[in-house]
Amino acid sequence: MSSLTQLKNYKIHPKKKLGQNFLVDEKILEEIIDLYDLKKDEVVVEIGAGLGALTTRLAPRVRKVLAIEIDKALADILKDKIIKDKNVEVITQDVLLFNFPKVAKLYGGKLKVLGNIPYGISAPLLFKLLECKNSLSMAILMFQKEVADRIVANPGTKDYGALSVFSQISAAVSKELLISRCSFYPQPKVDSAVVRFVFSESFIMGIKDEQIFKSVVRASFAQRRKTLKNTLKNTLNLGMLFSDVLNAVKVCGIDPVRRGETLNLEEFKDLANCLAELRTH
Ligand code: SAM
Repeated sequence: MSSLTQLKNYKIHPKKKLGQNFLVDEKILEEIIDLYDLKKDEVVVEIGAGLGALTTRLAPRVRKVLAIEIDKALADILKDKIIKDKNVEVITQDVLLFNFPKVAKLYGGKLKVLGNIPYGISAPLLFKLLECKNSLSMAILMFQKEVADRIVANPGTKDYGALSVFSQISAAVSKELLISRCSFYPQPKVDSAVVRFVFSESFIMGIKDEQIFKSVVRASFAQRRKTLKNTLKNTLNLGMLFSDVLNAVKVCGIDPVRRGETLNLEEFKDLANCLAELRTH
C-alpha cells in the first residue's frame, strides 16, 4: 500500500509540531534504501518511523530494526497494522532520550542510525549522536538542505560553523542526495538532503580536552564578523589570562587577525590542545 493511501486509510492528520512530513515518493524511498548500504547482520535504529515507509523496506535487509516514533497513535498503527516482520521493534519514545550506548552494548556491536528525521530536532539530535559516536558505525540522515550544507561546509564559506566543525571532527561526512519538497506529504516549505556520517577510530583526532575544544570552537564563531583575537577576547571564558590565550594562538602559527571562520579542523584542534596544556601548568 502506498504511503499516501495509508495516511488516508488510517485517517492521519499530520502534526506540524512533530515534523510529520511523510515521504510519499516511491522512487525516492528506494534510492534512500540503496544509500543505506544495508548488511544482513546489522542492527539499525530508525528515527521517526512514522507509518513505516522506510521501516518496511529496511526489515528484510537487516538483523534488527529498532523503529523509534514519539507519536503513540502512529507507533500503535505501525506496530499493530503495518509491520509484519518479526525483527522490527517499535519503540514509542522521544529519540532525544534514547540510550544509544546501552542499546549498542545490548546487541554487542555498533549501531547504524537512519531516518527521515523531524527538522525541529536536527541540531540537538545531531549533537547527541556525535556524543555517542563510539557506539555508532554510521548515520545516514535526512536534513533540511540548508542544515546539510552547514554540516559539510568548508572553512571560509558562509555555511561553515560550529555544526560543521563538530560533525567533521567526529566523522567523515558527505552529502549524498537532494530531495525535492515535492516528495513529501504534506509538502514542507524547504528541500531536503541526505547526509552520511561514517564514524571511525581514525577520526579521533587527538583532542586533549573536549570541553576546551568545544568552548574554543563556539567562541571562534560567536562573533563571525570580528577577528579571532576579538571574538576570543569577548566570548572565550576558560578562566585564563587573555594574554595567555593570545600567546597560544600565535604559538599555533595562527594569525590572530584572521576570522575564526577561516580556521580548519587541525587549527582548531591545535589551538584547543595548546590551551589545554597551558591550563594544566
Ligand atoms: N519515516 C517517516 C517517513 O519517512 O515518511 C516519517 C518521517 S517524519 C519527517 C518524522 C517522524 O518523526 C514523524 O513520524 C514524527 O512523529 C516523528 N518524531 C518527531 N519528533 C520525534 C522525536 N523527538 N522522537 C522520535 N520521533 C519523533
